[in-house]
Amino acid sequence: MEEPVKILEFDVLVVGGGIAGGESALNLANLGYKVLLVEKELSIGGKMILLSKVFPTLDCSACITTPKVSEIARHSNITILTGAEPLKITKKGPHHFEALILQKPRYVNIPDCTGCQLCEEACPVSVTDEYQYGLVGRKAAYIPFSIASPRAAAIDIENCTLCGACERVCPTQCIDFTQTEEQIPVSVKSVVLATGFNLFDPLKIPRYGYGKFKNVLTSIQMERQLAPTRPFNAILRPGDGKMPDNIAYVLCTGSRDKSIGNPICSQICCMYSIKQAQLLMGALPMADVTIYYLHIRAFGKGFNEFYAQAQDMGVEFTKGKVGKITEKENGNLILRYEDIETGKVKESEHDMVVLSVGVIPNEGIQEMFNNDDLQLDPYHFVDQSDILASPAKTSIEGVFVAGTATGPMDIPDSILSGGAASAETISYLRRVTS
Ligand SMILES: Cc1cc2nc3c(=O)[nH]c(=O)nc-3n(C[C@H](O)[C@H](O)[C@H](O)COP(=O)(O)OP(=O)(O)OC[C@H]3O[C@@H](n4cnc5c(N)ncnc54)[C@H](O)[C@@H]3O)c2cc1C
Ligand code: SF4
Ligand code: SF4
Repeated sequence: MEEPVKILEFDVLVVGGGIAGGESALNLANLGYKVLLVEKELSIGGKMILLSKVFPTLDCSACITTPKVSEIARHSNITILTGAEPLKITKKGPHHFEALILQKPRYVNIPDCTGCQLCEEACPVSVTDEYQYGLVGRKAAYIPFSIASPRAAAIDIENCTLCGACERVCPTQCIDFTQTEEQIPVSVKSVVLATGFNLFDPLKIPRYGYGKFKNVLTSIQMERQLAPTRPFNAILRPGDGKMPDNIAYVLCTGSRDKSIGNPICSQICCMYSIKQAQLLMGALPMADVTIYYLHIRAFGKGFNEFYAQAQDMGVEFTKGKVGKITEKENGNLILRYEDIETGKVKESEHDMVVLSVGVIPNEGIQEMFNNDDLQLDPYHFVDQSDILASPAKTSIEGVFVAGTATGPMDIPDSILSGGAASAETISYLRRVTS
């Protein structure tokens, strides 16, 4: 007779291990609730763990994230699955959901991996590194990035030639090519959706030349160049490896633009661009930095002062709408823009252009709920059904939402939102279990 499938039980399923999901998980766990944290990437920490410094304080992002991430990873009430995502979540009763979690094979037994990187050195296959946003390569046997949690290797099976070089050098024999995809059934009382955001794909605006002109980067690529876990020890033009000395930022790339289907303000791009400009002035003291903007939205506490500080440091702000970018033979870029103050069309030359790409919703969240209707707002973020009185509530009772899954926001607001989601979840759990 076949053994019945064992269903794992938790109080709360948190989907997404970024800063918002992490905050919710930690608050719930600290109050004794058993949490299952499911993250589709190979590390928890979301986008924040990959950032350089944060506006407006210029504190090191990794230094704030890593202690929190280790607290989450070590908490006895939190079970973490990385490389995993819910296939479906079904409401069975007032405080009962059943979820099927897809666990993808990592081909490495996490507890036995020492993170020694010998497999990386031995692996002969190089591919583009997605955690460095395509700026450098990585091996098919790889640790996602130096401060990843868990800091364990993974095998990229799509590119692996199965040569066995990694297996032969691994001192703990933790590489296991027999691992297969698993579907794990779990039962929970409540769900927190903290699935975060995606970045606008600049290939959708071909006139900016992203993907065609090597010295046109996205803001997250510049963020990686400025981060402590950066790919190179200097700021470099990807086209020829030269240090840039005249950098332009194009704000609102993929935000406030009905023509590409995203009419709303991304809220973070002005400030992260001003931050990056200040960091660039520190890293490249002789460089010129110009920010092309429509409006500067420096609305938070200390933001306007941060903007003024950038102006005092010599960052140039040009109120202009960039229409087109073209490339010169030497890799420099010509920006054709409308100078909004004079109404004249002008051109300017820069040796590197950073597109300040906007925040867009993460697709596919609705499809997780096959029986229930998870409502989205008009911009396709998760709808907050009672935004004023109970901002973490969604259209499904017992399912709460945290962070940028609800719309664009910065880190402090994502943490606050994660806190609100955990408080509302606790109040729901107390109501249904008392
Ligand atoms: C270039 C750049 C610079 C920035 N600089 C700053 C700054 O200086 N200061 C500041 O305050 N903010 C900054 N931000 C904003 C900051 O990154 C966000 O506010 C923050 O990361 C939001 O956290 P989150 O947890 O909501 O989302 P995310 O960081 O997106 O985390 C969501 C997590 O959910 C996971 N996930 C998604 N779908 C699923 C699924 N189906 N199953 C399982 N897991 C899933 C994702 O893999 C991800 O790990 C910057 C953003 C960018 C792009
Ligand atoms: S088996 Fe695959 S991952 Fe391991 S060294 Fe060979 S190519 Fe790299
Ligand atoms: S898989 Fe083996 S060789 Fe690779 S980092 Fe882990 S312990 Fe080291």
